[in-house]
Amino acid sequence: MLSEHMENHVFYRNLRKTYPVVDRGEGIHIWDKDGNRYIDGSGGACVVSLGHGVPEILEAMKEQAARISFAHGSHFTSEAARECADRLVRLAPDPSLSRVYFLSGGSEAVETAVKVVRQYWREVGRPDKYKVISRWVSFHGNTMGAVALGGHTARRRHYHPHFLHTPHIEPAYCYRCPFGREPQTCSLECAEQLERTIKYEGPDAVAAFIAEPVVGATAGALVPRDGYWQRIREICDTYEVKLIADEVMTGVGRTGRNFCLDHWSVVPDVIVSAKGLSSGYTPLGAVIVKEEIHDAIRSGSGAFVHGHTYSQNPLSVAVGAAVLRYLEEKDLIARCATMGEVFLEKLRGLLERPMVGDVRGLGLFAGVELVQNKETKAPFAPSGKISARVAQEAFRRGLITYPGSGGADGINGDHILLAPPFIITEEELDEIVRILGEAIQAVEKEVGM
Ligand code: PMP
Repeated sequence: MLSEHMENHVFYRNLRKTYPVVDRGEGIHIWDKDGNRYIDGSGGACVVSLGHGVPEILEAMKEQAARISFAHGSHFTSEAARECADRLVRLAPDPSLSRVYFLSGGSEAVETAVKVVRQYWREVGRPDKYKVISRWVSFHGNTMGAVALGGHTARRRHYHPHFLHTPHIEPAYCYRCPFGREPQTCSLECAEQLERTIKYEGPDAVAAFIAEPVVGATAGALVPRDGYWQRIREICDTYEVKLIADEVMTGVGRTGRNFCLDHWSVVPDVIVSAKGLSSGYTPLGAVIVKEEIHDAIRSGSGAFVHGHTYSQNPLSVAVGAAVLRYLEEKDLIARCATMGEVFLEKLRGLLERPMVGDVRGLGLFAGVELVQNKETKAPFAPSGKISARVAQEAFRRGLITYPGSGGADGINGDHILLAPPFIITEEELDEIVRILGEAIQAVEKEVGM
């Protein structure tokens, strides 16, 4: 409890902002200490898929915490880890994706995915394969390796001197096609660029390609065209490049399928998962790898040269197991698919607003792109902080959203990401769209649109 003698020593994310003090959560709602209620329209940062305060998850946490909260992964495994891994493997698109390494979150999981692929190539006698290709307008986390792989220029700028060589290709960004194509003239140049880049970098030196199946934080639910992921898979196969799907945001049902690449029947070599895997009840990430990768390490040096203090943390994996159990019992992924279609239809109504350039998404994972000029698609200058202002207006009206900007000046601009819990009702979706519309209108007025 706060006492009047306590100073505030917290190092906040935004050092100039005064944050409301969170009190409690239930279902799709969060309350602060002043009694204000918010709809969690983005599940925080696309995390909360089940909703807040689900008794079954709290019970699983309590039971595991009472039994044992911590045992180090170098000494023990746990029944909870076995159940969580088993359930995750059953959710995966192919039986060959059969081994799960647990972490504390998405960034750790991304780093782990890269390291496991790197070690695989060493174990099979191809130590020269080390480069990892990724995409611009992407996000893979905030640890140094993950920032280097990411394609958010504003976040990368601070750390350039620390980066290894990480070749980037153009994103599949249909609203702003990097190749100037329209749907009728598209020949998937964005996918073909992977092949060209592998050739430039040397197929013998390229270990992996990593990408988000649908881009989240940097552009707001960028859905590629059909055929894109199939072609990427084909190119990876041709050049013996491992395909790492970063499903930190999109995985575990968020887009209405178990994993997002299921929409295109594409099986990656490694899946990175986090966020919805624990629905935010504890920090948890996971890397699901093909048996072939696991086998090469087991029959080679025998140990993965890696590990974190909280890998396979009993409390977190118990939550993961309980979340996966709950999703299955309540058939929530199917619900996410159905409600997602309803949501997108409702959100498209916002296209009438002068500032709304595009509405897109899959499942309950939706993006609203905000532009200065709908005709030319000119983005706002980053200094205008338009998406942050819209999010602030929405927050004041009781709606939590996840604003963002691509960070690539003049290339892409502002967006609002929405990812409500799967239990949301149609009336509550109406409420989200209404409040967001009002927030956008308020900022349009401020900027004279
Ligand atoms: N990958 C993707 C696609 C993400 O969206 C994020 C988080 N927004 C991460 C990785 C990093 O996850 P974390 O914040 O849990 O480290």
